[in-house]
Formats: sequence, structure tokens, C-alpha cells
Amino acid sequence: MILLNPKKHSREYPDARSTEVMRKTIEFFERKGKRKLKEDDHARVWYADFLEFVKRERIFATMLTPAGHGDPASRWDTWRICEFAEILGFYGLQYWYTWQVSVLGLGPIWMSRNEALKQRAAGLLEDGAIFAFGLSEREHGADVYSTEMTLTPVGEGVYTASGGKYYIGNANEAAIVSTFGKLAGTDHYVFFAAAPRHARFELVKNIVNSQNYVAQYNLREYPITEADILSKGDEAWNAALNTVNIGKFNLGWASIGICTHALYEAINHASARRLYGMFVTDFPHVKRMFTDAYARLVAMKLVALRAADYMRSASPEDRRYLLYNPVVKMKVTTQGEEVIDLLWDVIAAKGFEKDMYFEMAARDIRALPKLEGTVHVNIALIVKFMPNYFFDHADYAAVPKRDDAANDDFLFDQGPAKGLGQIRFHDPAPAFASYDLPNVNLFEEQTAVFRELLATATPSADQRKDIDFVMAVGEIFVCLVYAQLVLENARLYRLSEDLVDQIFDCLVRDVSRYAVQLYGKPSTTAQQMDHCLRMIRKPAVDDARYQRVWAEVHALAGAYEMNP
Ligand SMILES: Cc1cc2nc3c(=O)[nH]c(=O)nc-3n(C[C@H](O)[C@H](O)[C@H](O)COP(=O)(O)OP(=O)(O)OC[C@H]3O[C@@H](n4cnc5c(N)ncnc54)[C@H](O)[C@@H]3O)c2cc1C
Repeated sequence: MILLNPKKHSREYPDARSTEVMRKTIEFFERKGKRKLKEDDHARVWYADFLEFVKRERIFATMLTPAGHGDPASRWDTWRICEFAEILGFYGLQYWYTWQVSVLGLGPIWMSRNEALKQRAAGLLEDGAIFAFGLSEREHGADVYSTEMTLTPVGEGVYTASGGKYYIGNANEAAIVSTFGKLAGTDHYVFFAAAPRHARFELVKNIVNSQNYVAQYNLREYPITEADILSKGDEAWNAALNTVNIGKFNLGWASIGICTHALYEAINHASARRLYGMFVTDFPHVKRMFTDAYARLVAMKLVALRAADYMRSASPEDRRYLLYNPVVKMKVTTQGEEVIDLLWDVIAAKGFEKDMYFEMAARDIRALPKLEGTVHVNIALIVKFMPNYFFDHADYAAVPKRDDAANDDFLFDQGPAKGLGQIRFHDPAPAFASYDLPNVNLFEEQTAVFRELLATATPSADQRKDIDFVMAVGEIFVCLVYAQLVLENARLYRLSEDLVDQIFDCLVRDVSRYAVQLYGKPSTTAQQMDHCLRMIRKPAVDDARYQRVWAEVHALAGAYEMNP
């Protein structure tokens, strides 16, 4: 089975240490138990026990130190990072978050040319430190061009930093807060290392009401020397965007972990509950909701795994990951919301109970589409790739499943964060042609009409400037890229054709839904509306296939339950 079951940990790793990291992390949470997990969540306790475990077992040192800076088992290996993030999400987004913002905080450090700071970071990781990424500012949100944190020269190689940052995770305890700013009087960006323990680092407050510390902090003439500078100018700007490229991908894995745990809880509950003399799982609509949730969750995982292959195989000549990553970020996380909605409709009141993991899932799943670039920001990015994706293909060597023990060097050497419109993609047609299934074929017909819309009823210059219209177009395009990644990985993971067709049953309905949305936009022309109507299709009905997939979902009842 492709879904995580911590009680039957089965993922293959090329080395013993990777398996040990996953096994010990699972053990930590299972030993902690659900009651304490929930108590800590309700009391909003800082997760010192988890960080103590991370330190004792050198977990972040292994997972977050690139090869060459730590012991031989340490490397930045996206294959194992994916599962680690999934496990943390499975037990609670708060644990994932302190890890995630450490990933982000380390990004500008590992991308820097400041070797001394890299050595320091490696030593701090060995000591069990956490890190923080100080990009966002209260007044500017997604608009990082308007950053106001300022570094003012006060002598040769000496500066003071002044300004405020907002929504910065771990900034209460981080050993280094990688802080983004501008050099005074210029438009030159800069990344520098700050430390919360310094007297001129003012920790104003925790902005959120949770176990996490998401800080507002101010620097007041905080002294900085060249030794604290990570990068300047274009390098600093690239480090900001390239760090987010790496980090945003993990949000998909948090969603997958959350949904997987919620699915186990939901099926355990519903399959044991009798109403009107029948099991809740005997209701036809409940079967449908579970089957949809399961198919969508499996698709989320296939897509995120496949995107990781492209990320690990990326190079200056192959930057396709820059499309697949925001698709994971935006689509996997919004699919996660849909999965939780479906499950919650089944378990209803049970989802509110304080002893359930589900209560946290229902709250936390909402965060993931909104962090590190909202859905809109990511669709705006994704549509830049659309012309080349459809109309200018390139040949690439096939990207295999990347579960090897490599250090992902390129992620810290991604180069300039521009030229997105020049990136070319392989033809997705062979991925679709490799499956002759009713719903895959229907989906192909829908997306052929979409392609025809782009070619013959091409959005006008005004429509392309209207972000609301662009969002509606982008949603359909995302479905296509998502479906391509599903199919590429369905083969690699030997998914049953039943399940592939069931996933495409969902995707056919999704394209229909987005076609209706595009149809209704104020500026959609009559010709475009005609294409939209042609994209609305009913999935192929096959009751035998549906029942077989449902049986697979139902068999999950009792497969996992967290230790009390
Ligand atoms: C719990 C939490 C933890 C966080 N942790 C960190 C952290 O550790 N470090 C850090 O630096 N930041 C962090 N953030 C900030 C987070 O990355 C921002 O919330 C995010 O960048 C979006 O900013 P905003 O929410 O202020 O939205 P705004 O920027 O105010 O956006 C408002 C609206 O405009 C839309 N919009 C904005 N720009 C565009 C665009 N170009 N195209 C289309 N639509 C657009 C948005 O989609 C949104 O609907 C955190 C936030 C939260 C809530």
C-alpha cells in the first residue's frame, strides 16, 4: 500500500540511518501517545520534548546537513525528507512546522558563500539547534519587493540592522534567524544571520495561539559585521526565492500526513458505528465519500513523490521542478482540504471530539494552502509555464524513481530565479497514452478541448491581465499537470488500473467544475464559453471497479490506531 502506516513502516532506504530516523521518530510519537499529544495541543505547550528527542537522536543533524558538512550519514536527501515531513504531519502540524521553518532558515545559509557560517550551522545542528526564516513583514505580505528591514553601513564592514518581521516561526528559540532586508538607500537585498538571544533582538510576541511560536520581532540597531552576512544583491534575492522553492514542496507532505491519519481515524469510527441497523460504511454516500477521499489522497502522494523525482534530478538545463513544485504546494494542499471535508462529512460530530487527532486535522489542513505563497500566488506562477507546456516541447532523458542516497546539491545552487517562461517540458502525451482506461480517456478529451481553447479562442491581452480570469484558466491547467504526474508515478508504483481509473473519475469531475467556473467569468467570450461547455463531462460509470476500490478502502478499518 502506498499510504503511510506507522505501525507497519515499510519504506525502503539505501542506508540504515535513514530507516532509523523514521523508526525512532514514529516511536517517539507512539510512546508519547495520543492522550498526551492532544493535551499538549490543547494547552499550547512548546514542544520541548520533541526538540529534546531531535537533539538526543541528532535527527536534524542527519536530515538537514548537506553532505560534506556533517558526518557520513548526513545529506540533504529529498527522498527521505519527504517521508520525514509526512510522519511529522501525521502526528501533528506543530511538529512539522518547527522542522519546516528550520528547513527554510537553513536555505539561505547552505546557499551562501559564507563558509564560516555554514560550519557554524553544521555545529549548531549537531547541538540540536532549530532555525528560522525571517522574510515576511507585517505590512507587506506576499510583496517581498517592499521589504523594509534595513542594513545601514556604520563603518568598514560594519552595519546596524533595523526593522520588524512578522509571522516568523521558531524566532523565539532559533540559533540563527536568517533575516532578509535591504541595504540602506539602495534596492540591493541582503540576507544576514541574527540571533534571538542578542539584546537588540526584540521578541515582541507570539502571533498565533498554538504550540508553535510564530514571532513578531524587531531589530533595533542590531550590530552586524561582514561575518554575519549570508548574501547580497541578486544572490540574496535568489536565496529567498530558491529557499521557498525547496520549502514550499514540504507543505504537500504535511497535508498528506494529516489526511492519512485522519483517514484511519475516520474509517475506524465509521466502520464500527451502527445506525438504523446498518454500519455507517454501508450508506452509499458514505462509500462514495470514502472512495473519493482515498483516491484523492493516493493521487496527492503520487504527485508529491513524482515531483520529488524531478526536484532531485534538476539541473541548470532541467528546471521542470519549478512547475511541479508549486503544483504540489497549491494542488496537493487544496486536495488535502477536500479530503478532510469528505471525511468530516462522514464522521460528523466525532470530528469535534477533543480526544481525536481529527480535531487538529480539521483545523490545521486549512493552513497549508496559505503558507509560503497563497494558492493565488502559486497559480500566478504556474500559468507562466503554460505556453511552453502545451506548445513547445523538449526532449529529456526519462527521470527515474529517485530513492538513491544522493545529496541534492543542485537545490542549494539553483542559480537565478528568473527565466521561467523559457523552461521547456517534455510532451505529456505518452504518459496519457500509456493508459487506456475510460476515465483517463475522458480526461484527455477534456484537456484536448482546453488546449484548443488556448490555441483558437486564445485569452486576450485584457483577459491575461485579469488575475481573476487567469486563476480560472490556471485551475484547469493545474489539473492537467497533476494528472500527468499521477500517471507517470502510477506506473512506477504499480498502482492497480482500478485505482487509476477511480482517481481519474475525480479528475474528470474536477475539470468539469473548473470549466463551469471559467464559463461564468465576466470576460469569458462566447467562443470560450462554448469550449467550457464541451469540457463538462460525466465520468465513466463502472460499478464493479468502484466496488473493488471501495473494498480496498474498507480494508483499512483497523489497520492503524495511535497508541493511547
Ligand atoms: C502560521 C504562519 C506561519 C508563517 N511562518 C512564516 C515564517 O516562518 N517566515 C516567513 O517569512 N513568513 C511566514 N509566514 C508568512 C506567510 O508566508 C505569508 O502569510 C504569506 O507569504 C502570504 O502573505 P499574507 O498572508 O500576508 O497575504 P497577503 O500578501 O496580504 O495577500 C493578500 C491576498 O492577495 C493575494 N496576492 C498577493 N500577491 C499576489 C500575487 N502576486 N498574485 C496573485 N494574488 C496575490 C493573496 O493570494 C491573498 O489572497 C507565516 C504565516 C503564518 C500564518
